[in-house]
Order: sequence, then C-alpha cells, then structure tokens
Amino acid sequence: MTELMSRYPYCHSVAEIDRSVLRDNARYLHRNLAPGVGSIAVIKANAYGHGAVTVARALTDIYDMYAVATVAEAVELRDAGVRHPILVFGVPLAGTAKAYVEYDLSAVVSSPDHFDLLQPGTSYHVEIDSGMGRLGIYPAGMAEIRERIRARKEITCRGIMTHFSTADEQGSDHLLHQKKVLSEICDFFRDDFPVHAANSAASLAHPDTHLDMVRHGIALYGYDPTQVSSGELRPVMRWKSWIAQCKPVRKGQPLSYGAVWQAPEDGCYAVVPVGYADGYRRGLSGRIPVLVEGKWYPQVGTVTMDYVMAWLGQDSYPTGTEVVIMGAERNHAGIWAEALNTIPYEICTGIHPKVPRITV
Ligand SMILES: *Cc1c(COP(=O)(O)O)cnc(C)c1O
Repeated sequence: MTELMSRYPYCHSVAEIDRSVLRDNARYLHRNLAPGVGSIAVIKANAYGHGAVTVARALTDIYDMYAVATVAEAVELRDAGVRHPILVFGVPLAGTAKAYVEYDLSAVVSSPDHFDLLQPGTSYHVEIDSGMGRLGIYPAGMAEIRERIRARKEITCRGIMTHFSTADEQGSDHLLHQKKVLSEICDFFRDDFPVHAANSAASLAHPDTHLDMVRHGIALYGYDPTQVSSGELRPVMRWKSWIAQCKPVRKGQPLSYGAVWQAPEDGCYAVVPVGYADGYRRGLSGRIPVLVEGKWYPQVGTVTMDYVMAWLGQDSYPTGTEVVIMGAERNHAGIWAEALNTIPYEICTGIHPKVPRITV
C-alpha cells in the first residue's frame, strides 16, 4: 500500500483516471440514444480536470467528435496525436482564425462577424442563443444566418447548435421556453443541417432534445446532474495521497491552524500531504472523510496549504500508506460539491494541474 509514494516520490498526490469506468459511463449514456444520433464528448478544461489527452484517447470509438473551449486546448490534443474531429466552443478571433484550418478544427460561429473572420476551408457550427444568455446569435437573426451561410461558400456549415441553462432543473419553465425556441430553430434549419442542443442533463432527462447530436460533459466523468441514472454513472477520478506522518496525540491536544479541533481521546492521527494549494478546498475543513485500507476516517482540523490531518483513533499506519481523499463512495466530487454549496464541475476543474493525472 506504499506503492504510489514510491512510484511518484516527487509528488504528494496523484489523480487516478479509470479508463474502464470512463468507457462504462460513455456506453451507458449511449444506451439512451436512438440509432443515428451523433455524440460529442465535451473535454474542455482538460476534460473537467481529468486530462483531455487521456480522455480523448479512451473514447475514439464511442464519440463522433470532441469539444473544447479554446483553440489552445484543441492544439494540445492535435499535438498529442488526437485526430478525431474537434469543435471549439469559444469565439473565433483574428488571431486564431488560421489555426482552425491549420489544425483541422471546427469553429463555432456565435456572432455574424465570425462568418467573415473564418478562413477559406474552415468548417463551423452556428450557435443560436435560445435563452442560455451567453454566446450565440439571437433566434431573431435566423434569416440572416441562412443568408450568411449561403453567401460564404468558402467555409462550410456542419451544424446548428444551442445550449440550455436549466436542463438540470426539474419542471423548469425556462427549459420549456428554450425547447419551444429550439423547435423553431429545427423548423428553420433541420432540413439542411444537423441540429444539436442536449448537454448531459438534457441527454439523460429530456430525450426529446437529442435531435441529431448530443454533447456529454459532466455525466461522462461520473456525475449525474439529474436523478435519472440511479447509480449507473461512476466517478472516473480517484484522487489519492499517502500518509506523510502518523503521530500519537493526547486527549485534548489540538491539531492544525486555529487549534479548533482537539483529540477526543489518546490516539493517532495521519498527516496527509494535500491542501488547498492542490485544490483540497479549505471550506471542507473537518467535513469529508478519507479512506485508508478500506476504512473511513474523519479529516479533522483546518485544511492547510499543503496538508490535511485525519483522525485515526486507535489505529496507526506506516508512512506511505495510501489515502483516498476524493472519488470513493463517501468522498466523491458530488459530496464535496454539496458540502461547498457548488457543483461537481467546479470541484473537478479545481484540482490543481500540479497533481499528476495517471491512467489506470
Ligand atoms: C460545457 C458544455 C456542454 C457540456 O455540459 P455538461 O453539463 O457538462 O454535459 C455542452 N455544451 C456546451 C456549449 C458547453 O459549454
């Protein structure tokens, strides 16, 4: 159980990315799609912190396309040898327009100016803002979009897309509104171009939005933003560290900054070398248990920059014993998110890049 420490002696923790769990999640998500519905794996933000290259390599036979936020993310994938189609969600700029051609990337046109900006030979999807209130052209501009698509023959439209803001909320009126706008978009464009709208939540909970393609992000990594999948999706990332020091402590003795936690009895505690500088959020101080050799122990005291403490009671372990700090049943990113009043997206993307992602 001291293997990880000896394999990565220069790091204090590693995030294990379980390739087979990732593929199981991907297959589960595809089981709900009608035949012929295409799929995009959303691997922006380093695949929600899981490692974009690893995730891309693992999903080639399951997804038709990948999506990233920036051209830089797409270039990283190309440089790593990923040849799959890539859609770049972010806005094209004068400074990136050439890269779409050079690296064979699909652009997202989210403003009429983008039609002129893109270089001959570029493929693109047009984003319509059906109510998300972020990027995209308002639906009132659909006739103009069609004109522009027709007028600029040097670039090729391969899809029309829109994005939901409340697909994860049950009984959302705003989603109904967006679906209505979406059906207008379909009436207008679907004879000529594939239309896609569904994110993970819509793909799981609203099959009527699947249309020609779906875009899976968070669900792929094991977190269901709806209640639909009932345990079928499992966390892909398991963040592990090890015991840097195991120390005895007397009843009443305080641990960590603020001296806010005191040992309830004579016993032992483990110093685990991860802290808020690694993405172990300080707001979690004393709230999430860690797993050591199949046994749960409370994390106690204030989370520090590079360390957290775990109370072992009457147990003790040798230095280097593996500690699962995130990703198991009682400490996965969904549980962290609830404790911090946020969403698993923010937790996963908040794990510091210095933590090596290793594929298992
Ligand atoms: C991030 C993103 C997605 C994926 O959303 P999930 O909720 O993670 O499935 C889909 N489409 C767009 C445009 C996005 O920005």
